[in-house]
Amino acid sequence: MKYLLPKNELYSRLARWSAEYSILAPQKVGEYSEFLPFTAQSELCLQEPHNTRYPAKALFFPQSETILKYNRISGQLESAAPESQKRIVFGIRPCDAKAVTLLDTVFAEGDNQDPFWLARRAETFLIGLGCHEPCATCFCTSTESGPFHTEGLDALLTDLGEVFFVETLSERVEALFSELSPAEAAQQEIALAVQAAAEKSLPKVFELDGIKEKLDRVFDKEIWAELSQSCLGCGICTFLCPTCFCFDLVDEAQRGTRVRNWDTCMYRVYSLEASAHNPRPTRRERTRQRLMHKYSYWWEHAGKLGCTGCGRCVRYCPVGLDIRAMIKKASAYESEAQHAN
Ligand code: SF4
Ligand code: SF4
Repeated sequence: MKYLLPKNELYSRLARWSAEYSILAPQKVGEYSEFLPFTAQSELCLQEPHNTRYPAKALFFPQSETILKYNRISGQLESAAPESQKRIVFGIRPCDAKAVTLLDTVFAEGDNQDPFWLARRAETFLIGLGCHEPCATCFCTSTESGPFHTEGLDALLTDLGEVFFVETLSERVEALFSELSPAEAAQQEIALAVQAAAEKSLPKVFELDGIKEKLDRVFDKEIWAELSQSCLGCGICTFLCPTCFCFDLVDEAQRGTRVRNWDTCMYRVYSLEASAHNPRPTRRERTRQRLMHKYSYWWEHAGKLGCTGCGRCVRYCPVGLDIRAMIKKASAYESEAQHAN
């Protein structure tokens, strides 16, 4: 169904929903925006052309959390898995909603499903806000997504100035919007025009066809030394990536807790083996791993690309390394090598 949500009714509607749901929505923290609980004092940050700094994955897979409590003396174990809770993530961008579905293939499918992820996913509704003015670091149209992509969303909002055009995408959120006025055909046309203009403002930066094969062919070539030359190995690109999911488990024995923390393949110690051998000893191998995981290995383990084009790794890299340029350079290197042979 399609509805109109007047902007001047947004806060009262969120307040009404909050009687039944915890609501998480983008709000300013210093110079960044973050998903925070909505309260009567909240001021939402829905106008930024870019995404929240931390991706929505953190709402399902926190940066650090206790997964197990134990008593070293008695040997008693207690799982710390959360109860399922009714939540609404309001204002999530389409690239982040798509990323959540990509992480479902890691945490919610197959033999080793994660009870923490499943509990948080079960009753969390994703109400998205399309990007009518995508920013310069976004490239979702190149990564099988787009500024109004609907994958993973329960509803999608399009900003039409005084009102949001609301399109519900799942039955389970229909009741949240059913009191609103239905949108007329003319308003739908305006929304479609806004969406088309946003899409057009983001021309593709590369074609995905054949990228996996090209990267596979340059796996052991020198290009990675050039691409990784200025990398500091800080890991920001992976911590803030909505599809990176590596973690480490740490036993805090004094407290009797086992804690799961985000980890990153951009750190030397990540791949350091007990024998002291490291299969990824330099940033050359670690940069290659980051790019190949997104643009090659994801196809193998999930049949999908592992990058949503959210642009966070471009925006926040302290030395300005741009994954778009890196992919294009690796691809061009492969083409030149083919012609030379
Ligand atoms: S690799 Fe970069 S652009 Fe792609 S999803 Fe991760 S942070 Fe976003
Ligand atoms: S954010 Fe930039 S400098 Fe830091 S690890 Fe990633 S690519 Fe390297």
